[in-house]
Amino acid sequence: MEEIQTKIIKVDEKNLKEDLIKLGANVIKEGGLVAFPTETVYGLGANGLNEEAIEKIFIAKGRPQDNPLILHVASVKQVESLVESIPTEAKILMERFWPGPLTMIFKRSNLIPDMITAGLDTVAIRMPNNHIALELIKTSGVPIAAPSANTSGRPSPTLASHVIEDLNGKIDMIIDGGSTGIGVESTVLDVSGDVPTILRPGGITLEDLIKVIPKVEEDLSIIKDDKNIIPKSPGQKYRHYAPKADMVVFTGEVQNIVKAINEYTDKYISQGKKVGIMATEETKDEYKKGIIISVGSRKDKKTIAHNLFNTIRLFDEKKVDIILSEGVETFEIGTAIMNRLKKASGGNIKGV
Ligand code: AMP
Ligand code: MG
Repeated sequence: MEEIQTKIIKVDEKNLKEDLIKLGANVIKEGGLVAFPTETVYGLGANGLNEEAIEKIFIAKGRPQDNPLILHVASVKQVESLVESIPTEAKILMERFWPGPLTMIFKRSNLIPDMITAGLDTVAIRMPNNHIALELIKTSGVPIAAPSANTSGRPSPTLASHVIEDLNGKIDMIIDGGSTGIGVESTVLDVSGDVPTILRPGGITLEDLIKVIPKVEEDLSIIKDDKNIIPKSPGQKYRHYAPKADMVVFTGEVQNIVKAINEYTDKYISQGKKVGIMATEETKDEYKKGIIISVGSRKDKKTIAHNLFNTIRLFDEKKVDIILSEGVETFEIGTAIMNRLKKASGGNIKGV
């Protein structure tokens, strides 16, 4: 692929400069690629109605063509022309959670290029809760297609430096708006069928959703540890978020996890391996060997979600051979964290 000059601009979300946003919007209008911050992770944006621009996203990321993209909008009004209809429950959810980390899957309209939906008859849409993202969409005047701004398979970017690491020389512009808040991607909720169904757990939790609508289901692939179940969300079938090192995730009582990780650390070190331990604030002092990084506090799992992908990338920087990671309990945001850890480790989960 031909190298291009990637322009990097710094934008302060709290003090938006119109002319800087215009620079980004012009790139989008001209069919180019702009990475920008959202409240979840950095997105790699293109004009969502321009097939040629969308194709560039797949090429830059090395993304499989059968993995559909999310369209990002700046108003509910903008959704109307993109979908067949907006179900009542979706309207309620938009009112409550938009802008925010909730992507909804609708029956698509004819306006949507096939490449967005990977040929499906549905389309994924969300409104991000970040001023830079919202202004970029408004100023571009089009819905922006934006998957995470990483090379396919790598951990999602939560800092502009992660985007630079993966995509410098492959995209037109990176808007550096600092660290993203939530740190894991949006929840993907299918509202195109009878019962709203979570296809990917994320920033808005099952517990959040059922406070607002009476019935929400989870795709079987999220609930069951069965490799034969094909996820309804095409992206969920791929290895994702993966570090360069091997990874094992330990689940169970915290004391058992610590004991097991210490035993495995001894075993791998005796084999001459460099071991990374993804610990938590509460447990980090119980490890004595290996490279120990705390990912956040068990008492505030949002800090774990926020730090997760950056911590995985840190272990890559330290060139460890294996990452031994603590697991967390699967409720609230813990469901999304464990989903990412499961994918990052290629399903290498050990109950202890
Ligand atoms: P990414 O933006 O890379 O974090 O991934 C977007 C996620 O949304 C992937 O898991 C996609 O498979 C999923 N997705 C996008 N469009 C659809 C759709 N029409 N139906 C089901 N899942 C979708
Ligand atoms: Mg992604």
